[in-house]
Amino acid sequence: MDFELTEEQKMVQQTARSFAQEVLAKTVAERDAEERFPYDEVKQMAELGFMGIAVPEEYNGSGLDIVSYAVMIEELAKVDASAAVVVSVNNSLVCDILLKFADDEQKEKYLKPLASGQKLGAFALSEAEAGSDPGGLICTAGKVGNEYILNGTKNFTTNGSTADVVIVFATINKEIGHKGICAFIVEKGTPGFRVSKKEKKMGIRSSDTCELTFEDCHIPAENLLFQEGKGLKIALTALDSGRIGIASQAIGIAQASLDTALAYAKERKQFGKAISEFQATQFKFADLATEIDAARLLIYRAAALKDAGKKFEREAAMAKLKASQIAVRASDEAVQILGGYGYITDFPVERYFRDAKITELYEGTSEIQKLVIARQLLRE
Ligand SMILES: Cc1cc2nc3c(=O)[nH]c(=O)nc-3n(C[C@H](O)[C@H](O)[C@H](O)COP(=O)(O)OP(=O)(O)OC[C@H]3O[C@@H](n4cnc5c(N)ncnc54)[C@H](O)[C@@H]3O)c2cc1C
Repeated sequence: MDFELTEEQKMVQQTARSFAQEVLAKTVAERDAEERFPYDEVKQMAELGFMGIAVPEEYNGSGLDIVSYAVMIEELAKVDASAAVVVSVNNSLVCDILLKFADDEQKEKYLKPLASGQKLGAFALSEAEAGSDPGGLICTAGKVGNEYILNGTKNFTTNGSTADVVIVFATINKEIGHKGICAFIVEKGTPGFRVSKKEKKMGIRSSDTCELTFEDCHIPAENLLFQEGKGLKIALTALDSGRIGIASQAIGIAQASLDTALAYAKERKQFGKAISEFQATQFKFADLATEIDAARLLIYRAAALKDAGKKFEREAAMAKLKASQIAVRASDEAVQILGGYGYITDFPVERYFRDAKITELYEGTSEIQKLVIARQLLRE
């Protein structure tokens, strides 16, 4: 067992860290305040090969591994959790499933521009009445001749208004439950497809979260992904990988919270000494550093299992559960350690605190991660 990153993984880490500190950091607070999408920054990340980092080079990806993906997302999220989720969705929820389930023509037409970052992708599974239970979705896809006609509304779609390509999940027959669910590749600009609402959010405000509406939206039959009735399998496969990305986003927020609080505590003096000299503060740091390390090791394990082609569902769920818990806790403690200064926007910890919460909610809430973990334990 080797706990060291490889030279290649360290290089990815350093590239992502420099990019985050030199580029994302300049505009992150402003974009958050103005709820502005990082258009220019995403273009630059595409040039660095971040948008399809684990996609083979033959499909215009960077051909790296999932550990590199995790390390990259952590570095981006340390500075900008919004930019990190834009990249994570494109990699895990879009490119990864196209790589696994798309046919050769679909890979040529969609995966290549998405993996190079020339185009941006989104993943539209959730609906108003189908969140934790996506099997209950009601968006329909009626087959007429050589087309499917989509009708329905998807909520909370990350990259919803900015994506060029959206993977949309809909049912061809509600009566047969999850066996009717299919995944479709839908292009922006297809008649009948519109962005019906842009959400205003507590955190990750520079990311784009939208409701999408489909009204008699005609999709060519060749845009069915894989096979009819396999949509839920595709969605769950995507979410297993996605959890490694969201766990990495969470650990980035947690690490940034700890780093900011450490730096502040060494400088801030009360009662004639630095607050870092109080044992109460030191114990917080020790606990946070230990929990962050534990969560990061869970992420690396899940990523390494995926790289080895082994089962990683339970491990990815454990990593996301633990990393999101520590993101919420570390950002809360960081606000506490900064006192009143933690609550105002002069310091980034109030943003970390707002950004952290989403990691316990999307790509499966913490309760759903526990269901995934328990289900596998009970099966053994
Ligand atoms: C900013 C943002 C971005 C998002 N991006 C995307 C995206 O790109 N694509 C997409 O498809 N979706 C996206 N989502 C949706 C997200 O994945 C869902 O919000 C999430 O899965 C939870 O669904 P819900 O909000 O309907 O909550 P519900 O499913 O209604 O859950 C409410 C509560 O009930 C609990 N609960 C539900 N079922 C159980 C159970 N069986 N056992 C125990 N507790 C349970 C939940 O854990 C939660 O605490 C996004 C959401 C947000 C807020």
